[in-house]
Amino acid sequence: MDYRIALIPGDGIGPEVIEQTVRVLDKIGNKYGHRFLFTGVPAGGCAIDGTGECLPAKTIEVCRESDAVLLGAVGGPKWDHLPGKERPEMALLGLRGALGLFANLRPAILFEQLADACPLKPELVSGGLDIVVVRELTGGIYFGEKDTVQTADGMEAYDVERYSEMEVRRIAKVAFDMAMKRNRRVTSVDKANVLESSRLWRRVVTEVAADYPEVELNHFYVDNAAMQLVREPKQFDVIVTSNIFGDILSDEASQVTGSIGMLPSASLATGNFGMYEPVHGSAPDIAGKDLANPMATILSAAMMLRYTFGLLEEADAVEAAVGSVLSAGYRTADIAKEGEDIIGTKRCGDLIVDAI
Ligand code: NAD
Repeated sequence: MDYRIALIPGDGIGPEVIEQTVRVLDKIGNKYGHRFLFTGVPAGGCAIDGTGECLPAKTIEVCRESDAVLLGAVGGPKWDHLPGKERPEMALLGLRGALGLFANLRPAILFEQLADACPLKPELVSGGLDIVVVRELTGGIYFGEKDTVQTADGMEAYDVERYSEMEVRRIAKVAFDMAMKRNRRVTSVDKANVLESSRLWRRVVTEVAADYPEVELNHFYVDNAAMQLVREPKQFDVIVTSNIFGDILSDEASQVTGSIGMLPSASLATGNFGMYEPVHGSAPDIAGKDLANPMATILSAAMMLRYTFGLLEEADAVEAAVGSVLSAGYRTADIAKEGEDIIGTKRCGDLIVDAI
């Protein structure tokens, strides 16, 4: 079968990690009899240089015509002097809005082979970790009414947290559907002891749970969830939460896994469409030096195979290949311990392609 993928290499190490990921997908295509049809489009700093805009209309058009988007990273010091609204990173917000990406999936997977990179005690993470944070991406306080006003007592600023039943219901469904494909546990995180919006959140998530009798649901207040993530991370399977709580908890959960070079992510729209990208940025300090770890992007492609294309066996094959390269002791600089041999971006790609 044919799958159309809009490819946005972006800036810094983006093109390097995307190049290796395309090789991995081509190998999967050959082995399993699929064709991945890539259309490269600019976004970010390189798009500003080429077209004057960080997100050209043509890029959005190609993304909309594709089955999925695979993105490297955008931004870098060359564009840091630009005012906020003209910066390369605005392309990410633009893509989320234009493509209706309302659900952000951030798996926090600790490969057993990299257990040393985890800052927690070994007994807390023995056997590895596999949590996914499902974050609502287009609502809540980041998009609510906001202002800074002059009052008799000085300046006052406010940001409004607001959620509709529809927004909570659709993100909850993403989380429960995901739990059905995993360990069938959902933890909904809110602050229902204080916030009205959280009380609505909790009620709607509980209603959605009734459609998934096989999934166990529990509710945590966000302060407790933040604590439990470092106290007993293995109790979690799928965590579903609002935009702001998800922003914070997904970073916390990912740090438990050690290296930013290993962390994939997905942003999903209604239906199967999604945009897949590594959690890391464009790493300008190592760009062009063959030092970047391509695994986060390759694992993002595995998520694309699983969640957008429904190619579960192929997704497992990519993840298993990454695991076997780690098991064989190969490490890029970001995950190497002192004294370990270091491989570059291309060699890492070669090894994963060979392992498939
Ligand atoms: P960063 O993630 O780019 O880099 C942080 C550190 O991690 C650096 O030392 C870098 O060398 C290292 N690192 C990151 N990815 C790596 C990889 N794959 N392999 C090995 N080492 C890796 O974050 P930053 O330095 O804060 O940001 C750099 C630029 O990226 C900025 O312009 C920022 O705005 C942008 N950014 C983009 C995205 C995105 O495109 N989604 C996300 C975050 C930051």
